[in-house]
Amino acid sequence: MALTGIQIYKLLPKTNCGECGVPTCLAFAMSLAAGKAELAACPYVTEESKAELADASAPPIRIVEIGAGERKLKMGGETVLFRHEKTFLHPTGIAVLVTDEMAEDEVAGRLERFKTLEYERVGLTLKADLVAVKSLSGDAGKFSALATKVKNQTDGGIILMTEDAAVMEAGLKACGDCKPLMYAATKENADAMSALAKEHGCVLTVKGDGLDEVSELTTRLTAAGLNDLVIDTGARAPRKVFEDQIFIRRAALLKKNKALGFPTICLPCEMTDDFMKETLMASMCVAKYGGIVLLSDLQGHSLFPLLLARMNIYTDPQRPMATSPGIYEIGGPSENSPVLVTSNFSLTYFIVSGEIETSRVPAWLIIVDTEGLSVLTAWAAGKFVGDVVGAAIKKCAIAEKINHKKVVIPGYAAAILGDLEEELGSDWEVLVGPRESAHIPAYLKEWKA
Ligand code: SF4
Repeated sequence: MALTGIQIYKLLPKTNCGECGVPTCLAFAMSLAAGKAELAACPYVTEESKAELADASAPPIRIVEIGAGERKLKMGGETVLFRHEKTFLHPTGIAVLVTDEMAEDEVAGRLERFKTLEYERVGLTLKADLVAVKSLSGDAGKFSALATKVKNQTDGGIILMTEDAAVMEAGLKACGDCKPLMYAATKENADAMSALAKEHGCVLTVKGDGLDEVSELTTRLTAAGLNDLVIDTGARAPRKVFEDQIFIRRAALLKKNKALGFPTICLPCEMTDDFMKETLMASMCVAKYGGIVLLSDLQGHSLFPLLLARMNIYTDPQRPMATSPGIYEIGGPSENSPVLVTSNFSLTYFIVSGEIETSRVPAWLIIVDTEGLSVLTAWAAGKFVGDVVGAAIKKCAIAEKINHKKVVIPGYAAAILGDLEEELGSDWEVLVGPRESAHIPAYLKEWKA
């Protein structure tokens, strides 16, 4: 049972020192009970209290980490059922399958697509995360060789897939230092797989025939001291997968069911032979709580929409996406090039910079910090007004890069013209640009320093 705020408070030092970021121990206790703070933020909790509080401070779905180094994938830690309540924390890992019975050129093609299919969107690089190495032959040598190839040729996370402990051990010898996800422990091999997971410090997938069997296995493994687990309920029919994913999330969050408080893996690659249907099922699993989705292959026309869906679901709905303020050079501008100014809402930045590129007129683009708000909203909120924009123009020192003193503001912000001229001084000329960014190319072609 989770502790209440008052129960937690009784275990805190009660010195109200404020080092945890809130002014009192009581406020910290309330935040901890609500899952909005981490116990580590208080440096003064005694070891005894820590042990008692660990239960209260642990997220209902355990956080596990797959991989090592820069491409480490975090899963779990989620605290809400719907993204509009707060935010989903750790985006679904997207994985591609290779097997030890595939032809070499097929494996090479999948690894090549894994490395090269990446997309830039609102300043983020979107790409797949993991390669799943599956033993179909049951041959430890072939499995180990394939795991070594994947480790040497990619920098992604690895999933080792076999239910034979001897084959798994060979795979772990090849790439155990990359901390792969082991798939999978079943009721038949759980003890042997658990021993390997402990020896190599890897996360272990628990695969059962339904929720009851999975719960029994996770309870057995955690009692044996293995806590970093991932769940596969064994369901492959889309409706059953959907139901299981929702049941697991609700059980962990609403019922505090510890046996199901782990991230999940979904296998759309085993749900259909139709590649487009597989993509649809993968998108369902991204939307409904899949920690990892395993695809049979990566193709741009299916991967890109999946990555976009994931990005949209896992962005914080309460925090607009923002671009860093400053000067952006587009197309190699010179001292005679036009200077435009806009807000740091990412979508605004990408649309405006895209239209400038389309115009083929090199330009300077000054991005003002509007806390991620678009031009009109920022203007209404007092974040894109004359003195703020003027201060941003002065701070970025654009005057040292150009030999004219003209700046173009968005048409929707025409109302700030007078204030901005006053802020910049009489030697500056403020021009009102188009309202719609689609008209920027035509406007720039007419522009003269
Ligand atoms: S850091 Fe610890 S002792 Fe200090 S106010 Fe926070 S909870 Fe209390």
